Amino acid sequence: MQPLAYARASDVSSAVRHVAGARGAEFIAGGTDMLQLLQERVRTPAELIDINRLPLSGIDVGPEGLRIGALARMADVADDRRVRERCPVIAEALLASASAQVRNMASIGGNLLQRTRCLYFRDVVTPCNKREPGSGCSARDGKNRLNAILGGSEDCIATYPGDLAVALVAVDAIVHIQGVRGDRTVPIDELHRLPGETPHIETVLEPGDLVTAVSIPDSAHARRSHYLKVRDRASFEFALASAAVALDLDGRTIRDARVAVGGVATKPWRLVEVEHLLRGRPVSADVFRMAAERAADGAQPQAHNAFKATLLTRTVARALTTVGSGA
Ligand SMILES: Cc1cc2nc3c(=O)[nH]c(=O)nc-3n(C[C@H](O)[C@H](O)[C@H](O)COP(=O)(O)OP(=O)(O)OC[C@H]3O[C@@H](n4cnc5c(N)ncnc54)[C@H](O)[C@@H]3O)c2cc1C
Ligand code: SF4
Repeated sequence: MQPLAYARASDVSSAVRHVAGARGAEFIAGGTDMLQLLQERVRTPAELIDINRLPLSGIDVGPEGLRIGALARMADVADDRRVRERCPVIAEALLASASAQVRNMASIGGNLLQRTRCLYFRDVVTPCNKREPGSGCSARDGKNRLNAILGGSEDCIATYPGDLAVALVAVDAIVHIQGVRGDRTVPIDELHRLPGETPHIETVLEPGDLVTAVSIPDSAHARRSHYLKVRDRASFEFALASAAVALDLDGRTIRDARVAVGGVATKPWRLVEVEHLLRGRPVSADVFRMAAERAADGAQPQAHNAFKATLLTRTVARALTTVGSGA
């Protein structure tokens, strides 16, 4: 038995100061990822600070666009009419995530910060650099069908598991953070880090940093956006490959594009080259296929996941065709 203290946070500043200053203190929101990791002894915090009573669950539309509080529940955000109209990709990514029960509990902030589903990360008797730095990577020569083909390093090839963060990359979302030194913002694309030689450091957050909200600027491409997720079964399953696409059209010409992918990379992965190939071209299945052919550029498949490269190009092409239809 390991003792575990629990306390409820009553205001943001003292919660941040407490977690920054107390060794082994962690935030808990919906608990849907944290509790699994505690049960499996993957995480062993000394103290959990429950943030659920903090006033961070609003969904608002203001001058900066849409602002979603970090404690808004996945189900409520997916169901919000303003989210569905302004950023369909967000609602679709959330509805393709987990199950109705999990979505009712799980928060937006917790979703962004969920940990990988790499089999070995969650199995404490196997070496894993992410769980225990320097112990080795069991996935490299093990079961790596679900692991990443993009963004991996010698030390880690774990896939970033979430759907929402991929959708947020396609709509240029900004993450709002409160830390001990005050507020700051980080573009969603910069929140998660590549594993490199330090796969246990997954984000740019510092101890005590609390995600307070995400904001999404109003844009034409966010309004014409779509999320497609391909997985082993139709629900309650993580992505083998997913694509979040957003197009700004001028008639039948693509003025601007965003393409981000999930299930294949160590962090939410933006396909800048694919976007470049789309800009200025007409809306057509041929153009979408041509651009999608570049989706897996630079891929480094492992023994059991080479199929992901083909799956990825097809997923991106199909998502683009869907979002371009009716133009
Ligand atoms: C069976 C199952 C299937 C799933 N399938 C999917 C799926 O298909 N797609 C998908 O995207 N997700 C999936 N998930 C993951 C699920 O969406 C996450 O567990 C959930 O979103 C986490 O939110 P939470 O509020 O419960 O976080 P918690 O478990 O409370 O916290 C998760 C982490 O975030 C930290 N944290 C939480 N809030 C904040 C904050 N505001 N600031 C700083 N740190 C914070 C915590 O300290 C912890 O480290 C699945 C989960 C389960 C159990
Ligand atoms: S891929 Fe990363 S998370 Fe998986 S075993 Fe290797 S080091 Fe651990």
